[in-house]
Amino acid sequence: YAKQHSKGVPIFFSEQHEDSIRDALALEKGLTEANLEQELYVEFQPIIDTSQNRVAGFEALARWYNPVLGQVSPVDFITTAEQAGSIRVLTNILLKRALESMQDWPEDIYMAFNLSAVLLSSPTCLQRLISIVEEAGIAPSRIVFEITETMIMQDYDRVIESLHYIRKQGFSLALDDFGTGYSSLSYVQKMPITRLKIDRAFIKDMAKKPADRNIVRTIADLCRNLNLDCVVEGVETERQLQLVTDLDLHYIQGYYFSRPLAPTAALAFAQFMNSNTETADQLPPPRDISF
Ligand code: C2E
Ligand code: MG
Ligand code: MG
Ligand code: MG
Repeated sequence: YAKQHSKGVPIFFSEQHEDSIRDALALEKGLTEANLEQELYVEFQPIIDTSQNRVAGFEALARWYNPVLGQVSPVDFITTAEQAGSIRVLTNILLKRALESMQDWPEDIYMAFNLSAVLLSSPTCLQRLISIVEEAGIAPSRIVFEITETMIMQDYDRVIESLHYIRKQGFSLALDDFGTGYSSLSYVQKMPITRLKIDRAFIKDMAKKPADRNIVRTIADLCRNLNLDCVVEGVETERQLQLVTDLDLHYIQGYYFSRPLAPTAALAFAQFMNSNTETADQLPPPRDISF
């Protein structure tokens, strides 16, 4: 059926389209009225270095629980916040929260934090994020900002300039969800990134699809040639772990090792997993059981 446009021109909506407009409006309203400081929180998913069998870092993942809307997926509320102009406030809150948890972590564990490219078009937004890290007293070398390729393409020159600035401050940079956007290889080479994250879409069917396995192999080679770290997302099974290990990839993030965890659980996970080597010589010597 038709709805009246403000100029009186009828516009046709499918029912599905109407639903998604209504959902987006509800989220937008929720985001403005929400007590974001109270309702936003962060979970941490371990990134394992399988070559050393230890937690190398955690990716901070945004969570929003609203009393009316319930638990909202980050994919939905981040997109809405980007469009509605609240992404800046939201990111500042999340970064502060994430850094608070990080205060308890061992120094050799890094944090990956997702940045919306919308923020990178504004020098003041960027500067604010950098001072939040400074105020927390966390070394920039312990933080990897993740950005997605699709986002970069929207405002290429400005974003690349910001990325150079971020690197100059001592932060690392990862290109997230690699393979799903449209960066050409020459773009990747020009970007001041330090790592790639292979999107989980390629890992999902690796066991069944030789084509996906070839893509993963090609990205692994690309990383070796460009001297980039390579993180594999979405490893869920032993078989997938075997396949990526066969390609000499050893930074793994996925449900096989752990789902995203609440801060205290994340810390406990790292302490447990990273303790075997370090504490081995702190253990009391074996007791003499001979008589
Ligand atoms: P992402 O940065 O690629 O994060 C990884 C997503 O994959 C997370 O979903 C994580 O829970 C999920 N994942 C990890 N391992 C597995 C696995 O083995 N199997 C499956 N099926 N999924 C796995 P999540 O938390 O729903 O986040 C979705 C996306 O939302 C993120 O994708 C990121 O693009 C965005 N996002 C999350 N937090 C933030 C944030 O603070 N700021 C911004 N700008 N975006 C964020
Ligand atoms: Mg990410
Ligand atoms: Mg990702
Ligand atoms: Mg992803």
